[in-house]
Amino acid sequence: MKHKVELICVTCPMGCPLQVTVEDGQVIAVEGQGCKRGLAYAQDEITDPRRVVTTTVRVRGGLHPLLPVYTARPFPKHNIFALLQELRQITVAAPVQAGQVILADALGTGIDVLASRDMPRRS
Ligand code: SF4
Repeated sequence: MKHKVELICVTCPMGCPLQVTVEDGQVIAVEGQGCKRGLAYAQDEITDPRRVVTTTVRVRGGLHPLLPVYTARPFPKHNIFALLQELRQITVAAPVQAGQVILADALGTGIDVLASRDMPRRS
């Protein structure tokens, strides 16, 4: 069955409003895009929505008790809650370097979770 979905393309600051026609889970038409990247955005958003996830994990012996982390690439939206649950179980030992892998291949996606900043040991 055919239906319309309204999206805002967030690929660039223009924020074009997109009217997407979807049939059987597939994009069959897009209107409102200012450039062809809007088509790719609509396609991804309808068939495989993803987001970069930022959160924190616990640190043992660090200057601060929590370490900010992020996914190295946009993560499948339907698995974000499970990822957050997994990260809640993790405690890393200080020191940590920015960019260090905190969780490799998160949930088998091939996407790593990385440290956002250095975390020195508490002195
Ligand atoms: S459709 Fe193109 S111009 Fe419009 S927000 Fe997306 S990337 Fe920017």
